[in-house]
Amino acid sequence: MKKVIVSKFGGTSMGDAQCMLRSAAVSLQQNSTLVVVSATSGTTNKLIELGQLARSAQNEKAQKLFLEITEKHSQIGKALEISDERKAQLEGLFEELASINKGIYFLKDNSPRALDALVSMGERMSSVLFSQALENTLKTHNSKAKVVWYDVRSVMKTDDQFGKARPLTDEINRLGKIVFAEILSSNAIGVTQGYIGSTPDGQATTLGRGGSDFSAAILAEAVDAAVLEIWTDVAGIATTDPRIVAEAKLIDELSFKEASELATFGAKVLHPATLLPAIKRNIPVFVGSSFEPEKKGTWIKKEVESHPLIRAMAIRKKQVLVTLSTPEMLQTHGFLFQVFKIFNELKISIDAITTSEISVSMTLDDSTLLNKKLIEQLSEIAEVHIEESLSLVSLIGNNINHTPGIAKKIFDAIPEINVRMICLGASKHNFCFLVSEAQAEETLKRLHKVFI
Ligand code: ASP
Ligand code: MG
Repeated sequence: MKKVIVSKFGGTSMGDAQCMLRSAAVSLQQNSTLVVVSATSGTTNKLIELGQLARSAQNEKAQKLFLEITEKHSQIGKALEISDERKAQLEGLFEELASINKGIYFLKDNSPRALDALVSMGERMSSVLFSQALENTLKTHNSKAKVVWYDVRSVMKTDDQFGKARPLTDEINRLGKIVFAEILSSNAIGVTQGYIGSTPDGQATTLGRGGSDFSAAILAEAVDAAVLEIWTDVAGIATTDPRIVAEAKLIDELSFKEASELATFGAKVLHPATLLPAIKRNIPVFVGSSFEPEKKGTWIKKEVESHPLIRAMAIRKKQVLVTLSTPEMLQTHGFLFQVFKIFNELKISIDAITTSEISVSMTLDDSTLLNKKLIEQLSEIAEVHIEESLSLVSLIGNNINHTPGIAKKIFDAIPEINVRMICLGASKHNFCFLVSEAQAEETLKRLHKVFI
């Protein structure tokens, strides 16, 4: 049986013709079976802006931006000496983009549904260009392997939560084996889009910003991949954000559990949902740089050789602390049930939580407060107090909840920083606490020095 390798390349790896050729050389060297690509860098943002301009009838600006987007893709095509067939495909996409944009203008509709149709064009355009780059690269290596372009919407079926659609995994797993049959049984290489999908009745959806990693992982599950590779512009996952702590080091390997905590609690390298399919099917994930493919990169696996107490740390900014208090919680039961019911109905997730006898505090992303219903409904069952501009600092490693002295070591390093809330105990792999946003980076710097 063929060793199936799914390789994902992010926006910067698709930046221009040269980046695409470099990425194509990486996929050839890695023997990729299916390559999943993001839109060219900056394009998704531009498409969103285009939708806003069309909606607000700023036609001149919209036209200018439209030309900027299509021109960029035409130029890459030219540099890659694009075939007539692919050129026609690309121009068809430009026309579709113009039509969707007109639709937004005339209908005054930039609902998430219309926007998904619009932004889906980014990945659809880049994947056509990347197919050309791959074909060119195969030719220079005298390879006769065929490149097969796939519209991922025939596989990536999702629900209709436009802008943040959820994949329908069973259906995707069923379709993946059928749609990708050719590349799974020959030496042909597939190219397809990350980030986008479609509802069962064919409307374009997206999985949320940065969703291409997640797409690649879902597809890796669907084709029973042996390896999932995430190629980006940094040579792996670092012990913390190197923009904050210059001494941050790259990590050779981390476990699925450590990586899940790290992705969820603020590390920007991987989309947090990426690891779910990989964990489910035990697919090792590699993270590396398409710009420096010779570097070691980071492996994320079920079993790893070392188990350091603290492997990495991260901050998750823009947190709010919502505290609910009510005397009715005293000596009774069911209060938390009511609280969680509200969060469940509004589909809002809680990151960290602590409780006392008559109050419960939870950290949330500050954007969740935009949903006015949340505070309204919580106020019906308790007094609500909100603190803003906080950051969640987390330390990720092993056996954290069974190691004496760790809390002392942490808090000794930051004697004058006010810690607003602490979460320890639920996980062996995570210790997190809240500090003010203004002090978060300083906290991280000091802890990195002490622990790493
Ligand atoms: N192009 C999409 C974005 O910029 C998805 C991705 O790159 O992962 O969010
Ligand atoms: Mg991206």
